[in-house]
Amino acid sequence: MQSSISISASTQTKVAVVGAGTMGSSIAVALLGSGFGVLLKETEQAFLDKGLANIDRLFASRMKKGLSAEEVADQKSRLETTLSYEHFSEVDFVIEAAPENLEIKKQIFQELDQWCHVDAILATNTSSLSITQIANFVRRADKVVGLHFFNPAHIMKLVEVIPGLETSHDTVARALDLARSMGKLAVRVEECASFLVNRLLGRYMNESLFQLQNGASVEEIDKAVCDFVMPIGPLALRDMNGADIGLAVAKYNYQEYGARFAVPPILEAMVQKNLLGQKTMGGFYCYDPETRKRTTVNTDFLKTLQALEHEEKVKVEANNSFTAERLFLPMINEAFLAMQERICQPEDLDAALMAGLGMRKGPLTLASEIGLAHCLAMLEEAGASSIDQKERFRPAPLLKRFVWAGRSSVL
Ligand code: NAD
Repeated sequence: MQSSISISASTQTKVAVVGAGTMGSSIAVALLGSGFGVLLKETEQAFLDKGLANIDRLFASRMKKGLSAEEVADQKSRLETTLSYEHFSEVDFVIEAAPENLEIKKQIFQELDQWCHVDAILATNTSSLSITQIANFVRRADKVVGLHFFNPAHIMKLVEVIPGLETSHDTVARALDLARSMGKLAVRVEECASFLVNRLLGRYMNESLFQLQNGASVEEIDKAVCDFVMPIGPLALRDMNGADIGLAVAKYNYQEYGARFAVPPILEAMVQKNLLGQKTMGGFYCYDPETRKRTTVNTDFLKTLQALEHEEKVKVEANNSFTAERLFLPMINEAFLAMQERICQPEDLDAALMAGLGMRKGPLTLASEIGLAHCLAMLEEAGASSIDQKERFRPAPLLKRFVWAGRSSVL
């Protein structure tokens, strides 16, 4: 369906960004770099100043990469800031990037509903809250959509566009249009917990910890997946993002999807021991306090794992010798489950994972290369070895059908 108002990069199209934190400031930079006018809103001058300092830092790094002083001046001239909703009647599109808290989002969307003109699209950058629930806070649920940027938003190519139950085709078209005008790969993703990329990532991150519990070493895991398809190992990534954030995400996925997203005990133990990663200068690895660079594997982590083994809170699983293929199996299986639920178009799935996570190949390509029948056989073998593993490795019915149909690839 054609959109009623075409969103294109021009100073006539003004986008409001609510929240100038990590995401809001980098979304603002991405919009300014694509020619949009931006109205950036915060709650207090101090938070706005912090966001503006971050924006300056992002521009400075862009200048190092070749952006001229004139271009920076032009882009910054299109940035307006505010602490109120007074000028929100002038914007065509709002991207809310306030904290991940339903009450805060409720207040913001109720304000937006009052101040924005009736045609304005109200998008949220939420990572985990329901778009349908947020849309229910306003009288124009058809105009609310998820626009999920990845961090840092001015660099990462992917934007997931997530309609809620009441979102109109026109709103989805306008959201896709806006993201594409920002030079992004915009992929429509149906609403589900963690959306597409983080849902598949969650399975893989958990599995890396189960493999660790099973005796694979930190370095072995990170090196093997980097050699395979990833730009960074899952344990180095966990240290970057923080084990506390990782645990909250893992618990949320477990709550939403059940047993196949079982939370690895080592993750809980690391949070209890404050082995959070870079922010505490120690997670799976140690970090140099001055350079913040990774040094060695953290002996405190090794001791924590040994204590869990001693208490028999982790047990080595049968038929589970570590290979990179084996580690990617749950992610591949989850890709088939997502396809089966029609969460995205099959042809978008690999592209989304590659743009969102920097994978050199997506899970469907990996599945075809490993062999669909071999993937199924590995899942069945792993699932047969224990009750815990049964749910984690229960093969997606769609994968079985591909194998039964004798197909060698998905696409
Ligand atoms: P953040 O805490 O860094 O920034 C949030 C900002 O919103 C703060 O500066 C806060 O002062 C401001 N704010 C709070 N209430 C406001 C209001 N009523 N009006 C205007 N500003 C208000 O958070 P973040 O990491 O940028 O995350 C923002 C959103 O993006 C969350 O929903 C999060 O789930 C999502 N997200 C985060 C990441 C990430 O990696 N950080 C990635 C994708 C999506």
